[in-house]
Formats: sequence, C-alpha cells, structure tokens
Amino acid sequence: MDEILPPVPLPLHVGTTELHWLSGGDFRLDGGTMFGPVPKSLWQKRYPAAIDNTILLANDPLLIRTPEYNILVDSGLGNKLTPKQQAIFASTQWRLLSQLALLGLKREDIDVVILTHADFDHAGGVVMRAEQGGEEVTFPAAVHLMQEAEWQDVAAPCRRAQESYWPVNFNALTKSGRMQLVQGDYQVCPEVRICHTGGHTRGHQLVEISSGGECAVHLGDLFPTHAHVNPLWVMAYDNFPLEVIACKEQYFKQYRQRDAWFTFYHDPLIRACKLGDNGKITECRPQPGYPSADS
Ligand SMILES: [Zn+2]
Repeated sequence: MDEILPPVPLPLHVGTTELHWLSGGDFRLDGGTMFGPVPKSLWQKRYPAAIDNTILLANDPLLIRTPEYNILVDSGLGNKLTPKQQAIFASTQWRLLSQLALLGLKREDIDVVILTHADFDHAGGVVMRAEQGGEEVTFPAAVHLMQEAEWQDVAAPCRRAQESYWPVNFNALTKSGRMQLVQGDYQVCPEVRICHTGGHTRGHQLVEISSGGECAVHLGDLFPTHAHVNPLWVMAYDNFPLEVIACKEQYFKQYRQRDAWFTFYHDPLIRACKLGDNGKITECRPQPGYPSADS
C-alpha cells in the first residue's frame, strides 16, 4: 500500500534560493545528554521529558534549491538502523526519498550533499540499503563535502567517536569516489558557503546561504535546537564544549547582525527563526503542527 504523506510545507525563500526541511526520521535521546550542564528544571520547560527522561528530536535535512543546484545538508538516520537500534532510539521512518519525490526530485537530482559532521544522525542517509541487498550511495550524482579533519576522524575514530561514526555509513561512499574533502572555508556555489567551526566535533562545519541581501545559516549541532542559542546550553555530546561556547557567541553576533534566519536540524518545535539581540525569537517558522513557539 502506498504511504500517505502529509502535504509539503511551503519553502522559506532566501533571495533566489528555496529552503525545504525534509524528514530524516525523528528519534528520542536522553534530555540530560542534549542539555549537558543545564538543570532539568530549566530544559524540561521547553522540551518535556518522558518517564524514561527522553525527549523527542527531529533529524531534518535541509534541501537548498538554488537557481542551478539541489544541495542537501545532512541526510538523517537513513534506512540501515537495526531493529534493536530502532527500539533504542524510538526512531521513526526515514522519508527523505519520498519527500524529494513530492518536490519532483529523484535521488539522482541531488548535486551536492554537505555533511556538517559524521555522526550517524547526520550521515546515516548518505548510504542506503539497496533493494538487491548490500549498500549503495543514496545520491549517486552528488559531490559529498566534508571537512578533511572530520574525515580523518572517521578513518581513525577515537574511542568515543567509534560510538557515532559507523563504518556502514561510509564504506560505499568511500568506494564511490564521490567524497570531496575541504579545508576551512569553501564556496559551494554563488549562494552557498561552508565554514569549518570545530566545537561539536573536530571537523564540524556550518552552512551559510546568502542571496539577494538575505541570509540563513545552518549551524548543525552547534545550535541543534533554538534553546541552544544560549551559549552556555551545550550538549554532553559536544567534544570541545569551550570551543562550542566561543563559536556560539561569535556566530550569534555575526549572523544576528545580518538579520539571518537560524535554521535547526534537531528542533521538534521550530524549523527556523530570526533572533533579536537578546536572543528572543522575533520571527519564526514552526514545525508543522506547532502554531507558535516563543523563546
Ligand atoms: Zn546531531
């Protein structure tokens, strides 16, 4: 039976580009790990915890449609989680390809995949289980952009990274030759630029979209939800928390001055927002089903 999909929400326009949020599968993580040093009495006011202390989180890859290119930022959980992993994370279905189809796109139409970093919740969808068995690259025509430092850590992960950098997410991609490593800043096309940040992981990068005097920024796991705009709200998953705090102060100031849209990958409430100097939301694109969300 065909899957019944909700209608595709309207895109956010940034100059000549369109931004679409796709569903890479929701999951649940322990709320304490998402908010590190922040007391539960504070974070649970925004993200209510279940009896097992987990909170709902989105994994929403961002599709950037420029006049020339289809660019995907991160890829969701993918379709390779084992039944045990699906149960641990209470994950929902990875719908990336069916949602692309609703936009009239096939997987061969994606020109560029930007990986903010290599954690399984961001990179899990770049290699998929093939119908004939085994694994294949999900977006066979795409160049996959990752920071060289991140790729070095995928190739030789430290003990902690071994838990989230899964070889199954990269083996087919490595063989395909579709990976392009970048050092530092890189202009992907006239409207899209990536920039090495570090912080969450050593090779973490951000994505900036600029067109027609407008701007949006995807800060990956530096700003996983709008609550993380507070520079001191860091995650237990952050490998270099002091770097994250410095990054957040820098990028908040830099992009606030440009009146940029801040877009979110993990936020179950908000897809993007603009922020005032005090960090309060001034304009908001909520997730479907959430009429408003004030900070
Ligand atoms: Zn993440």
